[in-house]
Amino acid sequence: MNILLLYPEMPDTFWAMKQLMRIISKRSSYPPLGLLTVSRLLPNNWKKKLVDLNVTNLKTADVEWADYVFISAMNVQAEYAKKAILFCKRFNKKIVVGGPLFTHEYEKFSEVDHFILNEAEITLPIFINDISNGNPQRYYKTGEFADLTQSPLPDWDLIDMNKYAYAIVQYSRGCPYHCDFCDVTALFGRKPRTKTSFQIIDELNLILLSGSPEMILFADDNLIGNRRDLKKNLLPALIEWRRRNKYAPGFATQVTINLADDEEMMNLMIEAGFRHIFVGIESVSAESLEDCKKTQNLRRDLLENVRLLQQKGFIVTGGFIVGFDTDTDKIFDDQIDFIQNSGIVMATVNVLKAPPGTDLNKKLRLENRLIEPFDFDENKTNIVTKMDNMVLYNGYKKILDDIYSPQRVYSRASQFLSYYGNHRTENPIKKELTYKDAITLSKIIYYSGIMGKGRLYFWRLFIGTFVRNRKNVFQALLFGALLFQFQRLHEKFMISYYQIAES
Ligand code: SF4
Repeated sequence: MNILLLYPEMPDTFWAMKQLMRIISKRSSYPPLGLLTVSRLLPNNWKKKLVDLNVTNLKTADVEWADYVFISAMNVQAEYAKKAILFCKRFNKKIVVGGPLFTHEYEKFSEVDHFILNEAEITLPIFINDISNGNPQRYYKTGEFADLTQSPLPDWDLIDMNKYAYAIVQYSRGCPYHCDFCDVTALFGRKPRTKTSFQIIDELNLILLSGSPEMILFADDNLIGNRRDLKKNLLPALIEWRRRNKYAPGFATQVTINLADDEEMMNLMIEAGFRHIFVGIESVSAESLEDCKKTQNLRRDLLENVRLLQQKGFIVTGGFIVGFDTDTDKIFDDQIDFIQNSGIVMATVNVLKAPPGTDLNKKLRLENRLIEPFDFDENKTNIVTKMDNMVLYNGYKKILDDIYSPQRVYSRASQFLSYYGNHRTENPIKKELTYKDAITLSKIIYYSGIMGKGRLYFWRLFIGTFVRNRKNVFQALLFGALLFQFQRLHEKFMISYYQIAES
């Protein structure tokens, strides 16, 4: 049996960082971990080929070769997943799909032959068994959650790691919180399930054998959801692994803000090599946090918490949302002030949306306030908001105009670098400068320092850091590259803004 594993293109969102990828000479941010895992769940004697449309084109010969085309996608890839399905259908291929997009919205993909929904570790083996018996069904669903200790090692042989900026592992699924706009608990439950530290170490060793990524992403929705296991098992194992693998890439992940309450956890994470963390701050309005049930962000000084994390040595990326029912037109200035004062250089701001499967989606459906289609683009919403649409988009524009302007990015970056705790740890993260780094450096200088609208600020940041704070010069260059990325994100938003204003 020949299986083509196909990963649709990602649109140009904050997370895809497509301009940044160009600068650092990578085709895509990270490989499709879901399909790499699916490959290992398929019988050994089946032939597999993986085509990631973010790094290469699809050849008709690859489609013709396949008996089945397996497609996995997240909601953000909906449009490109549809295109990939229609393309393969022209060759009369059987299409098998799975992943968050299809689990929630399978009824929108009538061309698909087989839906392997929920967690593949449970539903895929049943499908394979049915194929062997010549009786495959259309839908495979389950209400149970997979035991991750039985999840196989991803099949890294299927990809060329050098095309990606980050490698990727997943230690846990599920989150104990219940923010109403988030589909994580609907997909994976509220009890975080984890792999063993042995599984993760095996995965990391395989990654090191397959290339030298800039960073390794722990693709957990909330890494600290199971604190006990993390402190007792995973973090000590990672510290030990880093001792054995000097200058191994650092780690990035997502956590909740209450990491700042746990001194021991922060220290262990830094020692283990975590540097980049995404934190969902969402709103500075207590009413809006209450409204969306992000209770873990309430009754705390969010600014102080972010500062503490940065001083400890984490580079914090912050997620923000506007458009809650409780938001007033004051929210836009308040969010801007917070972002600027926090020194969070990488901030992503979304208009509130209600993804399928979430509590918010269910609530708004009852209130008849949902708009089709759902789109994960940061700038779009599928909600009839209480705030007037143009007030919302003008306010949103005001935030992006402000936080992505070169002068304001520069101001946040220099503020952050002045107190960033880039402490020396016992097991430092890479790196010595390589030939490839020299090429990246020259590209950063070209795009941000010569061609970029914010070149004046790029040089101020670079020279200022070099003179005053040399150990942080690498971070200054990264932020310099972001000036170019943000310029493009802002341009993209302006196109949607004019469309909305005209409609
Ligand atoms: S803490 Fe994060 S992952 Fe957990 S429910 Fe809230 S938004 Fe989702």
